[in-house]
Amino acid sequence: MLLGGNANNPRMLAASGVYLIFLTTLTYLLFRTGRIARYRSIFFSTFAIGFVITFIPMMLETRGNIGLTAQDMANLDVPLCHLTIPMLLIPGAVYGVLIFPTRLFSELGFFPMLFLWLGATIVLGKGWCSWGCFYGGLDEFFSKLSPKRKISSKKFNYTLRFFPFALLLVIVIWAFLALSPVYCTWLCPFKAVTEYVKPVDWLTWLQTGIFITLFLGLVVALPLLMKRRVQCGLFCPIGAFQSLVGLVNPYRVRIDREKCNQCGACINQCPTFSITKETLAKYKVSITCARCGRCMEICPRNAIQFSLVGVPLKAHATSTSGSLFKEVIRADTLFVFGALLFGGIFSNGVVAGSLLRIIHLIQTGSFVY
Ligand code: SF4
Ligand code: SF4
Ligand code: SF4
Repeated sequence: MLLGGNANNPRMLAASGVYLIFLTTLTYLLFRTGRIARYRSIFFSTFAIGFVITFIPMMLETRGNIGLTAQDMANLDVPLCHLTIPMLLIPGAVYGVLIFPTRLFSELGFFPMLFLWLGATIVLGKGWCSWGCFYGGLDEFFSKLSPKRKISSKKFNYTLRFFPFALLLVIVIWAFLALSPVYCTWLCPFKAVTEYVKPVDWLTWLQTGIFITLFLGLVVALPLLMKRRVQCGLFCPIGAFQSLVGLVNPYRVRIDREKCNQCGACINQCPTFSITKETLAKYKVSITCARCGRCMEICPRNAIQFSLVGVPLKAHATSTSGSLFKEVIRADTLFVFGALLFGGIFSNGVVAGSLLRIIHLIQTGSFVY
C-alpha cells in the first residue's frame, strides 16, 4: 500500500521505499525490544516534522502564499484539518452549513478529512494522539530533546489535565454562536507552522502574535522544560474530544492490581499527565491516556498493558515465549501493529515528500519546487 500509490512517480516510489525500510526497521526494533514508546516516538516525531517540511512549500507552490488572504477564503481554498471537527458538527447539524472555508469533496476538503478521522478513531481511539496526529509529534519531539527535566512535576496540579475538556466546551459553544471556527482563528498553536490569516491590520497581527506565543510556550518551551507533552496533555481541546469519542475503540491501557506495588514511577513518566496518585490507587489510567506505551516501558513489575475492553486482564496471554499465534493475538501486538500500519500509510505521502524536498534543498537551496 505504501508503494502502490506512487507507481507512476519514480521519485516518490523511491522515497516511499526508503520510508518503508525505515518503518520496517522501527517495527522490528519495537517488537524485538518491547520498547513501544521509544520507537513510536521516533516515528511520530518524523511524521510531524515531515508534515511541516511538506505542507508549507506545498502551499507556496499551489497558492503562492502561506498567509491566507480574504480571496483564498472566498475561494474555499483552505485545507481542513481534524482540529476543526468538533466545531463543525453542531452548526452542520442545526443549520446545514460548513463554517470553515474549504470544499466538501476536494482532496484536502471536508469529507476526506472526516472519513480519515472516523477511520482513525475506530482503529486508534485516543491513540490518535500518539500514533496518528500530524501535529502531536512536534510537542513529543521537543519533550524528548532535553536530557533532564528542568521543571519538576512533584507539585504539579494534575487537575489541569481536564482544562482541555473545559476549552472544548467553550470553543464548541463559541463556534456555534459565532458560526466561525474560533479555535483556528484565535487559539491554534500550530498556525505558527502551517498557515494563518495574513496579518494586515491590528486584529490579524494580534492573532498571529497569539499563535506564535502559544506555539513557543506550549509546543516548544514547556515540553523542553517539563519533558512532557504540555500542548497535547494540558491544552488541546481536540485531544479532549478524542478522549471521549475514542471510547468506541476496543483497546484500553490497564494496570494489573496483582502485579502493581504502587511505586508511583509511572506517574512521573506519563507524557500526558494521565496517571495520578488517585487513578493509581484505583489501578486505573485517566481517560486522557494517549496509548503511547511509556508507562509499560518503565514499569519495573510489568504491570501495565494494552487490553481489550471487557476482557479480564488474566485472559490476555502475557508470555512472550508462547506460540507465535499466542503472541500475534495479544492485545498489545494487535493494537501496536494496527497503529503502526495506519500511521505508516497515513504518513507516507508527507514523509516521503519531505525526503525529496530535503534533497531539493541541498541541490538548489530551496524547499519549493
Ligand atoms: S492532543 Fe491535539 S494536537 Fe495533540 S496529538 Fe491530540 S489532536 Fe493532535
Ligand atoms: S510503575 Fe508499575 S508497579 Fe509502579 S505504580 Fe506504576 S504500574 Fe504500579
Ligand atoms: S498512561 Fe501510559 S500509555 Fe497512557 S499516555 Fe500515559 S504513559 Fe502513555
